[in-house]
Amino acid sequence: MLEIKNLHASVEGEDEQILKGVNLTINKGEIHAIMGPNGSGKSTLAKVVSGHPEYEVTEGEILFEGEDVTELDADERAHLGMFLAFQYPIEVPGITNRTLLRESYNTIARENDREELDPLEFDDYLKERLEVIDMKDEFLERSINTGFSGGEKKKNEVFQMAVLNPKLAFMDETDSGLDIDALKIVSDGINKIAGPENAIVLITHYQRLLNYITPDYVHVMMNGKIVKSAGKELALELEDQGYEQLEKEFSVNG
Ligand code: ADP
Ligand code: MG
Ligand code: MG
Repeated sequence: MLEIKNLHASVEGEDEQILKGVNLTINKGEIHAIMGPNGSGKSTLAKVVSGHPEYEVTEGEILFEGEDVTELDADERAHLGMFLAFQYPIEVPGITNRTLLRESYNTIARENDREELDPLEFDDYLKERLEVIDMKDEFLERSINTGFSGGEKKKNEVFQMAVLNPKLAFMDETDSGLDIDALKIVSDGINKIAGPENAIVLITHYQRLLNYITPDYVHVMMNGKIVKSAGKELALELEDQGYEQLEKEFSVNG
């Protein structure tokens, strides 16, 4: 589904590389976790994969379902079925969750030759999807993320995912700032969404989230590269030992 080959990227217009040769293959039906210390490039990877305009790919390529998407805009990628939950979700006062979601849903439906939903049909669909994250209807009328608590923003990301049904989702620090109840709801939601036809990448500094969602693969990112990949046991190892040992092993600058 996703193939990242020797990906190098910098902030647009700057020389310094943040991603320094990332290789990663993700297949349908898989859950991957990307872990690593602060500043290792995890969020940058998620943003570059989703086409964030702040960054520039200087070498390498990103293939999505065999198509080279390296130069596509973020919205073109979203229409193909790629989804990024931002670490710091934006607030959009004046546009309700419902409106944004219907626009997005129908745009994706049009692009993929699927039927659009009229407002009534869409409402029924939304109500059914709200159950994924245990949210009340009133959530739909609120302006996007405005005045949401940290936990509500995270739930909203998972809700957006439940509604838009992306093929590939990157969730950046979805667990940060959640109390234990919210963490359970968010993880439950992600588990309900995960299926044989999609793939989910969880980016997380801590292994806490992985107590609730079992990844097929765990990758460690350090200094702009994936330096280690293994099964779910790697997360526990890191929890035990921290990143220091790996940091010593991979303490190359550049
Ligand atoms: P992580 O998510 O692993 O904590 P980031 O991807 O946020 O790491 O950051 C990786 C490195 O790139 C950091 O040193 C960070 O300061 C730098 N960086 C990322 N985005 C920008 C940006 N827009 N401008 C300047 N530096 C950036
Ligand atoms: Mg960071
Ligand atoms: Mg980050």
